[in-house]
Amino acid sequence: MNDFRFEPVAMPAAAVALRSEVRTFLDKEMAEGSFKPTVGAMVAADPAFSRKCGERGYLGMTWPKEYGGHERSALERYVAIEEMLAVGAPVMAHWIADRQSGPQILRHGSERAKRMILPEIAAGRCYFAIGMSEPDTGSDLAGVKSRASRTEGGYRLNGRKVWTSFAHGSHYLIGLFRSSGRPEERHIGLTQFIVDLKAPGITIRPILNVYGAHEFNEVTFDDVFVPEDMTVGGEGQGWAMVTSELAYERSGPDRFLSTFPLLVEAFRELGPDPHPAAAAEFGRLVAHLATLRHMSTSIAGMLQKGESPATQAALVKDLGTTFEQEIPEVVRRVLPLEARFTQDKDLYAQLQQLALQQMASYSLRGGTREILRGIIARGLGLR
Ligand SMILES: Cc1cc2nc3c(=O)[nH]c(=O)nc-3n(C[C@H](O)[C@H](O)[C@H](O)COP(=O)(O)OP(=O)(O)OC[C@H]3O[C@@H](n4cnc5c(N)ncnc54)[C@H](O)[C@@H]3O)c2cc1C
Repeated sequence: MNDFRFEPVAMPAAAVALRSEVRTFLDKEMAEGSFKPTVGAMVAADPAFSRKCGERGYLGMTWPKEYGGHERSALERYVAIEEMLAVGAPVMAHWIADRQSGPQILRHGSERAKRMILPEIAAGRCYFAIGMSEPDTGSDLAGVKSRASRTEGGYRLNGRKVWTSFAHGSHYLIGLFRSSGRPEERHIGLTQFIVDLKAPGITIRPILNVYGAHEFNEVTFDDVFVPEDMTVGGEGQGWAMVTSELAYERSGPDRFLSTFPLLVEAFRELGPDPHPAAAAEFGRLVAHLATLRHMSTSIAGMLQKGESPATQAALVKDLGTTFEQEIPEVVRRVLPLEARFTQDKDLYAQLQQLALQQMASYSLRGGTREILRGIIARGLGLR
């Protein structure tokens, strides 16, 4: 296809300057013990760290100043989040709000929602969860059964969402509900709502993941009231909203840097004079990383121009999650690690063990590999 391209983008001088500023901030935070690098990208939450990011202007970076933003370019934002992910900083608290809920509200929210919520997100004080998946509805998102019914002044929500990351620490959730029609009518009659997670009728229960951590939840809605002006894009626009949102969710460096902190530690373990076979394995990983980064920054450039590169984003996520899953496998092969289940593990051992437990989830969250490949094939005109 002629228009399927990843044009190179040049980082503007402001982004280059910002990179060293963010790096200095993160080095200082680590030196002061504010956080230790981790793997997984966006799984560690620390509201104090998020507030510091807000104070330094690293959240809501591209949004208008009148809503608390900083009117910087998408590429400047790219550089800031890339630096944070590269050292495994605890970004989870603000991550979803800054990456996708805030931009959705800015584009499609009511004026009241924008004024009430966006400055709080940009200050690092307001966090969001995503309520798309349901017990029988993951890949087949248009099959959601949770319902919204009209009531005076707004809507009543009933139903159940699962795998809701960080709902237990979030202030709001943007959820997809069926607001009219029957479930068989699929894409028609879906609406996204901004739901206050403290509203009566909401219950949040932990779902522990495979390594016993509480990262996602089940959220139930029992006659939860949502005011009329808290839809995203208006009633019936839910499908258009979720599909545009996924271009933001799928193209960023969080889709290939999850295990980068492990790669850095593995280089340290390897030392300055590695065996040529090990050097070749690691060299291949670095070449893949450079290519992915090129593709991902190119998408940031397209988003900056107001384009919606959904197919390219799906491709970056598919290749990116394959890459971040490959790092622990290569590292295990080249630098075998005896299982050590004690508390006093070194950083390399900690990151490697965690990455091996986590890595299966990288190609599930945000859309599975099979679903992405279907989107890519359709985008390329192959199906
Ligand atoms: C760590 C993590 C965090 C998450 N956070 C959130 C969150 O915050 N909010 C949220 O809403 N969801 C979240 N999810 C859910 C995630 O989006 C879903 O798990 C994902 O979309 C898959 O849905 P499912 O689990 O229902 O699997 P299913 O849809 O049942 O799929 C099972 C398997 O079948 C395959 N499959 C399904 N349909 C097809 C098809 N048509 N063709 C070929 N293969 C197919 C899939 O690829 C998969 O391998 C999270 C998941 C994980 C792992």
